Amino acid sequence: MKHDLHCHSFYSDGDLSPAEVIQLADQQSITHLALTDHDTVDGLAEAHKAAENSSITLINGIELSCTWEQRLIHIVGLNIDPKEKTLLAVIKENKQRRLLRAEAMYEDFEQNGIDIRLAVQSKIPKNGVPTRPHFAEALIELGLAKDKKQAFKRYLVKGKTGYVPMRWPDLAQIGPAITAGGGVAVLAHPTRYKLTRTKLSWLIKDMVAAGVKGMEICTASTDKQQIAMLTDLAEKFNLFGSTGSDFHSEHQPWAKLGRFEPLPKTLTPVWNTFK
Ligand code: AMP
Ligand code: MN
Ligand code: MN
Ligand code: MN
Repeated sequence: MKHDLHCHSFYSDGDLSPAEVIQLADQQSITHLALTDHDTVDGLAEAHKAAENSSITLINGIELSCTWEQRLIHIVGLNIDPKEKTLLAVIKENKQRRLLRAEAMYEDFEQNGIDIRLAVQSKIPKNGVPTRPHFAEALIELGLAKDKKQAFKRYLVKGKTGYVPMRWPDLAQIGPAITAGGGVAVLAHPTRYKLTRTKLSWLIKDMVAAGVKGMEICTASTDKQQIAMLTDLAEKFNLFGSTGSDFHSEHQPWAKLGRFEPLPKTLTPVWNTFK
């Protein structure tokens, strides 16, 4: 069995449709896949349809942005109920924040002589959420950047045109929202926050208090040493271990679907909690 419990479709900042992600997962011999788009569950219906014609077991997922100590933290919700009211309220709030940021971004571009609105909107499917990568794609289409890397160098980042800081709900609000619908909340890519081990322990303490029960241990970017460090922390705090690639695009060879080390045997896999 192979569990990739973190990936994206074009309902948020991925390149592929949910059906294409399922097809790719099938080719990679993944048995269990969680589609975890940022701040939306709208790709799940399409993913379920595609999964019916594959050997993949699809897990309902989401990746929610939140704030802890003024930092942006990502929490993955697994086996969630996408119709649960508390969760839907948080999703609605995050989506609204994204829509408001997009408006402010359009205005900032406009003030700098760039009319980007229509190009961005053409990149987002109905019900999808606007993300900065959508703006990067639009900048490429308008000939203002040659690729996403350049788009994020010239625009969209602090100090550049199109940068609008985001405010996200507090971590304390996110954990309970995921749990409300019977889902299990997991800290996404813990090594990406550039926290020392001590600070990461503080984050874990606070997230456990917020109802987060697991942590990603093996991702496409964790090396053996990091896996050992995270395994140690997961044991110390009694956390379930998760695995996931954080796949976004076939053009990102560093985060291929299904590419991660197996979960260390000393940890209890988060998928043991799925019914
Ligand atoms: P957002 O959540 O809309 O602010 O967008 C964040 C996403 O933008 C991240 O998940 C990455 O996929 C992408 N991103 C952020 N910074 C960069 C960068 N410097 N180069 C390429 N992609 C980036
Ligand atoms: Mn992303
Ligand atoms: Mn993330
Ligand atoms: Mn992600």
